[in-house]
Amino acid sequence: MTEHNVQLGKRRQLVAGNWKMNGDKALVEQMHRQLAATSLDNMDVVICPPFPYMGLFDGKVKLGAQNVSQFDSGAHTGEVSVAMFNEFNCRYVIVGHSERRADNNESDELVALKVRQVLKANLIPILCVGEPESVRDDGMLFDYIAAQLDAVLLEVGISQFAHVVLAYEPVWAIGTGKTASPAQAQEVHAFIRGHLAKQDDNIAANIVILYGGSVKGNNAQELFSQADVDGGLIGGASLNPEDFLSICQAANQ
Ligand code: PEP
Repeated sequence: MTEHNVQLGKRRQLVAGNWKMNGDKALVEQMHRQLAATSLDNMDVVICPPFPYMGLFDGKVKLGAQNVSQFDSGAHTGEVSVAMFNEFNCRYVIVGHSERRADNNESDELVALKVRQVLKANLIPILCVGEPESVRDDGMLFDYIAAQLDAVLLEVGISQFAHVVLAYEPVWAIGTGKTASPAQAQEVHAFIRGHLAKQDDNIAANIVILYGGSVKGNNAQELFSQADVDGGLIGGASLNPEDFLSICQAANQ
């Protein structure tokens, strides 16, 4: 079903730009221009703009949403459904971003329900996990990440992870300019793959795991060249088409 998990041992790099609550119509146009002028044959690019801009992207740009309702439809003011995304060429949905976990009290259980909803609509969740700095300092990093993964595993089962993209985003690295070192990122990515491998080796070997947290043009290549890092989820740098495209080029090699 997904473009990313079909060939054993051949993970394709993916770079997704999370615009958060930023951007405008002019940025949509600039991004179109820059993407059209850049050849990126060896990787996939996804743009996750705010909802009002989704309809402005042409069919050549892969789109992702930044959030989704866990419900199908109905009296849920301010929410957006998976069926609506399917009408707008949107193939990906970011679920469980740490900003939503913090600002909107999204629990591991709610995140798991959203992942189920996205999968039910044949869309691809980009499931974010990652620890606050205090958790890392307390030596609880791996327990914390495992619990975030286990809530979703319990809800949808390991076989559904064949259709999931994961993003490891240490909370302390998001929007702070403080990137995880390539070794720190690799350590957690390898842990995540190992955790999934306890249930299914093939799914663990094939799942795409993005790194997110202050990725820039000058650090992307080293991060993406780690064995278990398959690209990035990019916040701030995705708002500058030149910077974003230079990150994409790092994944294209
Ligand atoms: C993000 O918001 O997912 C993110 C990684 O942000 P930044 O790249 O700005 O740290």
